[in-house]
Amino acid sequence: MRTNLLVANWKMYKTPAQSAEFVEAFLPLISNKNDEIVICPPAVCIPTMVDATRTSSVFVGAQNLHWEKEGAFTGEVSAQMIVAAGCTHVIIGHSERRQYFGETDSTVNKRLEAALEAGLTPVVCIGEVLEEREAGLTEDVLRRQCAVAFRGISGAKAAKLTIAYEPVWAIGTGRTATPKMAADAHAVIRAEVAKAMGDELARKLRMLYGGSVKPENIASLMAEPEIDGALVGGASLDPKSFAAIVNYGAARG
Ligand code: PEP
Repeated sequence: MRTNLLVANWKMYKTPAQSAEFVEAFLPLISNKNDEIVICPPAVCIPTMVDATRTSSVFVGAQNLHWEKEGAFTGEVSAQMIVAAGCTHVIIGHSERRQYFGETDSTVNKRLEAALEAGLTPVVCIGEVLEEREAGLTEDVLRRQCAVAFRGISGAKAAKLTIAYEPVWAIGTGRTATPKMAADAHAVIRAEVAKAMGDELARKLRMLYGGSVKPENIASLMAEPEIDGALVGGASLDPKSFAAIVNYGAARG
């Protein structure tokens, strides 16, 4: 049985004061007691968020990490640093990092190894761009991304691995993959994980969908057995909207 996971990616939005205000409004709205809820704020907000969520069931994650423990890497933070700050989760290889900051499948692999080593729950983002989908290359792209990202990582070490399938054409665009499209991609990814790290890990692996998730479409996505949660950008910035997303099962009881 996989525990569902709902992750907010705040990207480069909110100051520490604004993140504290969000938490104050958001916590009383949560009625979902079954799933894991994580907020990944900008790095400067992490201490405020850890403090503000301390007595709640909400976890705090980082949006990135560097694979070295420390060193002359201006602007970077290491796995050890984000753990010491109170983070339990970390997003790795988001498409915006790939598009604007030169992230590659190889650097994803290094960051993933560092995150697992530090005991973090990594949320590794993979997904195709529009041209690749239209050219019928989605499966090839997902296989290539998985093969490089998981190179040398053993199933024994990867128990906490989580993957977010985020078709790049659906991020911040208002276009969402259908639950069936997401489930098909998840099946390809699960098969690759089985190949790289064994069947048992693949069975237990949590896979999230990301790309224009909103209160209006979360229930139909979560109804798909292959989808174990969501990575939410824009719609996670407002406490009411993110609460409506995490409470997707309220009608279910
Ligand atoms: C994201 O940031 O990973 C994302 C999916 O953004 P949005 O929900 O805004 O499409």
